Amino acid sequence: MRLKNVPGSREVIAESRFVIHNPEENKGKWAGVFGNDAPLHIEIGMGKGRFLMDMAKLHPEVNYVGIEKYSSVLLRAIQKMEEEELPNVRFIRMDAEEITNVFGRGEVERIYLNFSDPWPKDRHAKRRLPSRQFLARYDEILKKDGTIEFKTDNRLLFDFALEELEPAGWRADVVTFDLHGDEKLVQGNVMTEYEERFSSMGNPICKYIIRR
Ligand code: SAM
Repeated sequence: MRLKNVPGSREVIAESRFVIHNPEENKGKWAGVFGNDAPLHIEIGMGKGRFLMDMAKLHPEVNYVGIEKYSSVLLRAIQKMEEEELPNVRFIRMDAEEITNVFGRGEVERIYLNFSDPWPKDRHAKRRLPSRQFLARYDEILKKDGTIEFKTDNRLLFDFALEELEPAGWRADVVTFDLHGDEKLVQGNVMTEYEERFSSMGNPICKYIIRR
């Protein structure tokens, strides 16, 4: 999701109290940002933030950090937070490649990857958020028994993500190629913007939950 450059978005982000501006300074100290030591869940590539904010409303006992690379997209999430302030949500504008500079070893309990960009060319495989290169970064910041939940309608990307697991030392607790068709797994499912769009077009949604 890359919206057209929205004039003024960088300024709005720079002034927003919902955005953490020097996230590296909080490495290992995220409890201080929220003023409590609730578990920390992050979404990488959150887009306009609907999933993250719906999750935060359902789980006030969890702290949520949404990470988004593009200002024009993050702006939409900030606008939603202006309407509905949630004390357990913060945003970071950054490229997830830097994630180990921002979260300490074992600081994160869960990582959500929702409808990550597919980067279809082979030479770009390492940019895919479920790639082994990213799994190595997640390994550093996830606590013992921490999990990653990944959803996509892109079957090629999902197959790639499954193939990356074993060489990187991860195992799947849950794998489905049709989340919405699985009565049990779909219970409590919170839809993302892309999920809403693609499932309404009839695309099956794949999901895994993994741990080391
Ligand atoms: N998660 C949302 C959803 O399911 O509706 C948005 C999905 S959209 C296809 C992918 C989002 O991930 C885009 O907003 C994109 O800017 C962001 N993104 C892609 N690569 C990223 C990276 N390396 N770091 C941070 N955000 C990234």
